Amino acid sequence: MASETFDVSALQDEIDALAAKVTKQGAEVRTLKKNSASDADAIGAAVKVLQELKISQKELLDKMEAATGGKDAFNRQVFDELILRKMFVIPSFEIHGGVKGLFDLGPPACALKAAMIDAWRKHFILTENMLEMECTCLTPEPVLKTSGHVDRFTDLMVKDTETGECFRADKLLEDAIDTLIENSPTMPSEEKEDHLRIQRQADAFTPEEIDELLIKYECVGPSGKPYSPSFPFNLMFKTSIGPEGTSVGYLRPETAQGLFVNFNRLLNYNAQKMPFAAAQIGLGFRNEIAPRGGLLRVREFCMGEIEHFVNPADKSHPSFPSVADKSLVLFGREDQLGSGKTKTITVGEAVKSGLVNNETLAYFMARTQLFMERIGMDPARLRFRQHLETEMAHYACDCWDLEIKSSYGWIECVGHADRACYDLDVHAKATNTAMLATLKLDQPQEKEVAKLKFDRKLLGKTFKGDQRVVSGLLETLAEDWTTFEPIATALESEGKTTVDGFEIEKDMVSWTKTTKKVHEIKFTPSVIEPSFGMGRILYSLLEHSFYQRDADEQRCVMKFNPQVAPQKCAVLPISSNPEANAVVDEIAQSLMESDLATRVDKSTASLGRRYARSDEVGVPFAVTVDFETLADDSVTLRERDSTVQIRLPKSDVTRLIFDIVHSRTTWEEAMKKYPVVTVNEDGEAEKQVGATVIEKTSRGTFSRPAEKI
Ligand code: AMP
Repeated sequence: MASETFDVSALQDEIDALAAKVTKQGAEVRTLKKNSASDADAIGAAVKVLQELKISQKELLDKMEAATGGKDAFNRQVFDELILRKMFVIPSFEIHGGVKGLFDLGPPACALKAAMIDAWRKHFILTENMLEMECTCLTPEPVLKTSGHVDRFTDLMVKDTETGECFRADKLLEDAIDTLIENSPTMPSEEKEDHLRIQRQADAFTPEEIDELLIKYECVGPSGKPYSPSFPFNLMFKTSIGPEGTSVGYLRPETAQGLFVNFNRLLNYNAQKMPFAAAQIGLGFRNEIAPRGGLLRVREFCMGEIEHFVNPADKSHPSFPSVADKSLVLFGREDQLGSGKTKTITVGEAVKSGLVNNETLAYFMARTQLFMERIGMDPARLRFRQHLETEMAHYACDCWDLEIKSSYGWIECVGHADRACYDLDVHAKATNTAMLATLKLDQPQEKEVAKLKFDRKLLGKTFKGDQRVVSGLLETLAEDWTTFEPIATALESEGKTTVDGFEIEKDMVSWTKTTKKVHEIKFTPSVIEPSFGMGRILYSLLEHSFYQRDADEQRCVMKFNPQVAPQKCAVLPISSNPEANAVVDEIAQSLMESDLATRVDKSTASLGRRYARSDEVGVPFAVTVDFETLADDSVTLRERDSTVQIRLPKSDVTRLIFDIVHSRTTWEEAMKKYPVVTVNEDGEAEKQVGATVIEKTSRGTFSRPAEKI
């Protein structure tokens, strides 16, 4: 049974509602106090109500703090400054003034992205034996005409009628609703929910509907003039392929089409076995109307797409039992239009109750959640939002977006769509290439089919070069009486019918209904597609990993987990002593020989300053070579978030860090094995006696020594 549980956004709504009540009650108390006619009892009662409201407010804020680890105190300015200063993300072509929606990744983000993609390949491609491809970015027009992108890959755009500046209509509407709600702290919650409901559907309105809404919400352009009526703008970058300039091409807006057009070869490669999945990691290009939110809406971005081909009559997944008990936060379409609240429910329950259409779709949703947890995303800021009927393509069965909450709100980062047979069907028809899979039957089956006889002369005269296309189409439909029956009925009653744009007349074809023994069934596979926006995931991970130690703006930390951290270990000498430096080099070399990216900091800055520098780029461990090292070959190893240090032989460092990075052991285990130490002012480490305690802090749960020396 679905159970409603804790949900950060719902809690935020409660906090907002209570804040409005506190403001109102505060005003009431002030009015009473000002009014000389008020009696003391009335004032006292009003103050009591106010105090009670404030207590409830504090309780809710504490609850939010506990749930989010205080992350709501996210300091965008400090974060942005760190991201730029440490060269995680920088505007492209900065010294030329930059280009909106284009960003470069610097060294730490490149390493983080590489680790993330490595984890993605292991989690999906390797674990599930997917067939990986790398297809070209340049795509000829007929492919994207066939997929529907040339005609329909559009966003609604409006222009400032004075300046001609362009805007995305749905985003204007979303912003207008945000502003309205922000400026109306006392707005009743039902009214607020009505606005939010419209906001959630913003990208699903028709041009006429959105025009009306922009007027309703009094949206005007920066010049103060109303916007133009909205119109569709195609997001693809158009180019020409070849020197003649006659062959139109586009930079691909997604990687999927390359996999669809290779379906037959992939199926052969897979020895005709179904179901199977193909996957691709690569760039997608979209000429976004209004790029914003850093890496969240850009014009060139890395995608990871999986196309899982499955029999439409059987969308079960063999590995479904392994995820059936995994709980997900689901925001179904009924809840979006009704209560506005999410449900936490196991994947098994979600499929059983019909909330998620089928096992395979739900399986991938669970696997996506596990991937996000694996790379260190905060699970409290993940939810799956189902597409509203109006948002889904007409052919799609069910779609769920994994949304990640960042300081920009809930953002779609991974789409999960059951696209039915649409993609293979359209490419098969456009190229006259059968794209079918075969199900071998254990027992032969009797099947009703139509046996056709063509008047080839009439077909040739009518359709000329397309004659074979038309007869092929009819033959395919005739393989199953249920698909041919409507054509037969129309030809009998009307004398003609249209099949895929071709007008067929009764005289062209005759048929008999018959049965056939079949040993196999041919079918067009359905496609279930998880589509990952790697850039959005990377940005969200940066935000989820960021915190300030003791709320100090100078002490920023990126708490990347050791598996994805751009660098795994810092190695620092406590002094500039040449002997200590030699040990630093020896340890760094050993780490790097084991593929553990290492940062050496021999600068003269204090040890604390150097730890802080490595914290800023999220290095999980720091080895310090101190005076004791020279005497007994031992070093200290500091864990970034707890700042706890252990003392261990320098020869154990590489093995230990390697094992932690490859999830073969944990820092907690290391603390049991090696003595925990504290370091005094002179940098002299002393052995810590006493047990380790587990400490829960706003940054997470850490172990630390029970007593400091
Ligand atoms: P879509 O094909 O529109 O479902 O997009 C697939 C994924 O690509 C989305 O879930 C996003 O994570 C990502 N994405 C789409 N558009 C952009 C963009 N302009 N910038 C960055 N990521 C994007």
